[in-house]
Amino acid sequence: MSTTDSVPQAVVRRGFGLKDEIRDSIVSDYHSDLIRRIREQANTLQMGRLTFRLAEEFGFCYGVEFALNLAYETQKKFPDRRIFLTNEIIHNPRVNNRLQEMGIGFLEASSENPARFAHITADDIVLIPAFGAPVDEFRELKDKGCLVVDTTCGSVVAVWKRVEKYAREGFTAIIHGKYAHEETHATSSQALKYEGGKYLIVLNQAEAQCVCDYIVNGGNKDEFRKRFEKACSPNLDPDRDLERVGLANQTTMLSGESLEIAEMFRSAIERKYGSEAVAGQFRHFDTICTATQDRQDAVNKLVGEDINLMIVIGGYNSSNTTHLCEIAGQYVPTYHIDDAGCVISPSRIRHKKVGEVTEIFSDGWLPDGNVTVGLTAGASTPDRVVGEVVDRIVNLTFAE
Ligand code: SF4
Repeated sequence: MSTTDSVPQAVVRRGFGLKDEIRDSIVSDYHSDLIRRIREQANTLQMGRLTFRLAEEFGFCYGVEFALNLAYETQKKFPDRRIFLTNEIIHNPRVNNRLQEMGIGFLEASSENPARFAHITADDIVLIPAFGAPVDEFRELKDKGCLVVDTTCGSVVAVWKRVEKYAREGFTAIIHGKYAHEETHATSSQALKYEGGKYLIVLNQAEAQCVCDYIVNGGNKDEFRKRFEKACSPNLDPDRDLERVGLANQTTMLSGESLEIAEMFRSAIERKYGSEAVAGQFRHFDTICTATQDRQDAVNKLVGEDINLMIVIGGYNSSNTTHLCEIAGQYVPTYHIDDAGCVISPSRIRHKKVGEVTEIFSDGWLPDGNVTVGLTAGASTPDRVVGEVVDRIVNLTFAE
């Protein structure tokens, strides 16, 4: 196989040496003295009848901090140039609004619009978000001659390399993820850098089972293609392209589920081709990032303590935040909110349930008497927002 693409040269992946100059802005925009104090008090805050217990790991991850530092440095370095983002830099409304206030423009988000980069010129600067961008977008921006500042998280790039290697070695990349998520869209595009490169995205174990059944028993090719038409490379032939598979995942999926899906594929290859074939026809490397893992582990630990409910704070389109809700919701009443304004009163809260599209209102969310509230936040949620939530719950409760 021969490579049909290359990473553009006019790409910056490092800061501009301006960390000291932007530090105050980052602190004032995103940090919280209240949260710093709670962290220093063993992640606990006692206020009258309320006890708040913070997860041991929550909020901004190293990838988000890297992306924001790079965006702020870019704006500091080039105050007179037009700067655009190809998409939300991370999935948090507060952060994206702040970048817009700073004058950073957001390009049309749908990558299906062929004209989304039409007005970009060689004098412009384009920021790539923390979850990356598809190969063809990099190529188009390179052709424009603009400066590309790439904030893609290193953990995402590690997955790209894995998928690229699968394609180079003739394996179909099976990606556990959400096909519409920007990161997975970018990751799957890596397979297409090589002639004949293939990918297939599975959302969950049910979809993985469908693919594994096809590997073992065959099936109706047209039905298979119909089911995965938005989630596979255009030329995927399940009869031909599922003989050699390499597993990868969107970095923010539930790690346990990713491991189980990998095992399902290993087992399917073994059943179809025999145990001697596994080494040559199956590849797997766990590509859940450590920040996601740490936050999931911390929620699992917190719900094992004596808490009455969980508040999970983060953007509604944030994959890792949604998974924190899924974990907590198995054990205690859990409310996913994106901002302090969602807490209407001690009896009423606006939130989004896992799997639903719109917010709902719930009454009676905060029980009477002594209550322990567990708190966590997705990897894209600033401490400042978490602090505002604690502040608002306390103020509303004691104003009753
Ligand atoms: S959640 Fe993981 S992959 Fe995503 S930006 Fe953070 S560190 Fe990177």
